[in-house]
Amino acid sequence: MLIEEVTENVVELVEKLNFAEKVQRSLDLIDRAYQEFGDSLVVANSLGKDSGVIWHLAKRVSPKIRGFIVTTRFKPAETKKFMAEEVARFPELKVYSNDVEIPVKLYETDPDRCCEILKVQPVRQAVQEMKVKCWITGLRCTEGRTRTEYKEIEELDKGLIKLNPILIWYEREVWEYLALYRVNVNPLYGEGYRSLGCGPCTKIAQGIDERAGRCIGTSKCGGECGIHTKPLLDYQI
Ligand code: SF4
Repeated sequence: MLIEEVTENVVELVEKLNFAEKVQRSLDLIDRAYQEFGDSLVVANSLGKDSGVIWHLAKRVSPKIRGFIVTTRFKPAETKKFMAEEVARFPELKVYSNDVEIPVKLYETDPDRCCEILKVQPVRQAVQEMKVKCWITGLRCTEGRTRTEYKEIEELDKGLIKLNPILIWYEREVWEYLALYRVNVNPLYGEGYRSLGCGPCTKIAQGIDERAGRCIGTSKCGGECGIHTKPLLDYQI
């Protein structure tokens, strides 16, 4: 079983492996997952730079691998346009959103609830509808203080594996990969953003922490929306 086979200390691997070795490791992880899960292996594509890498890696393993995008009414116009372009290029990317009415400025009064409704619930819907048994994310443990505890392969929900194949990549290695393979990226990076999210909750920020511009001044530590921490299965949508 895939989940029992990876035992290395990922923090050590961040330093130990070079760029080419990391790329190969990521490809191997996705390939093994594809052999085990086939069509039930799906990429969660957030349209950010890390998603650009995992989507490209997955397509190298098999062009048949599907993906889903969760979008919200608060995504910037540039992200919406970029999403339309990506979906036109890759029709196997399915878009999910939750258009239910919510209180005005819920992102200010209760950002956890806002993310739960607009982001976590559509992920649950995608997992159910696409019959996902293993999902691939672009999580990296070097991204910020909220992301140091993850593993490359996790099973938060029994029966739903989460694969984080670029967990040990540095930010510069993400950009190295995107440049080498000429992967299209969201134009907002050109404006200085380092981590992208919903418009009201994302700012251009400087400093060591890559996610420092996410959810500034709110209770949401590092802008985590909950898709990596909350249960996704056996949930009433
Ligand atoms: S990132 Fe902000 S606007 Fe987007 S769902 Fe979360 S709280 Fe709401």
